[in-house]
Amino acid sequence: MAYKDEQLNEEKVFKDPVHRYVHVRDRVIWDLIATPEFQRLRRIKQLGTTNITFHGAEHSRFNHSLGVYEIVRRIINNFQGRPHWNNEDRLLCMCAALLHDLGHGPFSHSFEKVFKLDHEFYTQAIIMGDTVVNKVLERVSPGFAQEVADVIAKTHSNKLVISLISSQIDADRMDYLQRDAYFTGVSYGHFDMERILRVMRPIEDQVVIKSSGMHAVEDYIMSRYQMYWQVYFHPVTRSAEVILTKILHRAKHLYESDYNFKLQPTHFLSFFLGKVSLKEYLKLDESIVHYYFQLWQEEEDKILRDLCERFMNRRLFKYVEFNPNKQISDLLRLMELFREAGIDPEYYLVVDSSSDLPYDFYRPGEEEERLPIHLLMPNGSLKELSRQSDIVESISGKKRTDHKLYFPKDFLYTIKDEKIIEEIERILYGKEMQS
Ligand code: CA
Repeated sequence: MAYKDEQLNEEKVFKDPVHRYVHVRDRVIWDLIATPEFQRLRRIKQLGTTNITFHGAEHSRFNHSLGVYEIVRRIINNFQGRPHWNNEDRLLCMCAALLHDLGHGPFSHSFEKVFKLDHEFYTQAIIMGDTVVNKVLERVSPGFAQEVADVIAKTHSNKLVISLISSQIDADRMDYLQRDAYFTGVSYGHFDMERILRVMRPIEDQVVIKSSGMHAVEDYIMSRYQMYWQVYFHPVTRSAEVILTKILHRAKHLYESDYNFKLQPTHFLSFFLGKVSLKEYLKLDESIVHYYFQLWQEEEDKILRDLCERFMNRRLFKYVEFNPNKQISDLLRLMELFREAGIDPEYYLVVDSSSDLPYDFYRPGEEEERLPIHLLMPNGSLKELSRQSDIVESISGKKRTDHKLYFPKDFLYTIKDEKIIEEIERILYGKEMQS
């Protein structure tokens, strides 16, 4: 039997708190899960620094990737025998689902920002490079690895397959919303996925939703909206992320200024130099990052030491609402005052902005162009979701942004000059600080 059709003698199951079980029957999927590149995802948390705020959020990208695979597997099971569905695409969909986050590194968000990396680039590189994952995929058929990479990069000619993995209602989002809700313990993020899976239909080049399932989809969109503001953009989580980002900045800066590290940053060198080979990229996981941060608390450099100590012991920056677009002169003045007080504003005064667009209708040619969700009406026509749902219409196309200014409030109490403290307090709080 051809490798691509090979089935395991017995179905394997992974116990999963969200989907109860993840079922594996295909030899290819089983082999992919066993690769070192996929196992590495166990050592990368799905939500980065969120566990600082919601202590349950220790789940990994491994858990999430299995979950996305399982959802796609179930969707395809429902698609069997329907018009517009070609069962030859089954394995391609499941592999792309399983591997879609393969290139994520430790604390992706901060690493990408500081070192100008892109996890999507590394997902492609792992799938196409000299890796075990690539060997497994090429055994399916020569060129299969490229097809999987193309689906994940959204450049594959089969748009129906792409829409299962990445669209405004895809397996990726359906998994992470439920999984992140489960592990954080919040009551948002739940919706009736079983119902959505039952009303999904393949139509030519996209997945659509039978109109009778509209309310389940509304619920899903609202879950997403609430999860972004209640969990993903939580200001305390962002504080930890700000500090993490600044640690990486500081370490890079010290390296570039020939600082003598007590603990040589061996695993970071290629990141500092901006030339990260695939091999080096795969070596770095969150355990290693924590190892360095733990030991850098004993470095000579005061800033690196302090930032690592804050990160490891959850001594976070405080924050105030702050709009950098309207308060630029305040920001410049604060920087001056911080400098006068001997606190480096480069590391200790940070504006962080988060924004989200919960759902968007189709705007061809515009930046962040997204395929809308279509409802399949009883007469067979398609209708864009926000035209049918008042709830979705009310948030559709609306981008919400939140700006905060982060700083170590405890440092302010150490400033000797009363006048400087007073002025800082006035700008930050519009009044005297209450200690
Ligand atoms: Ca994902």
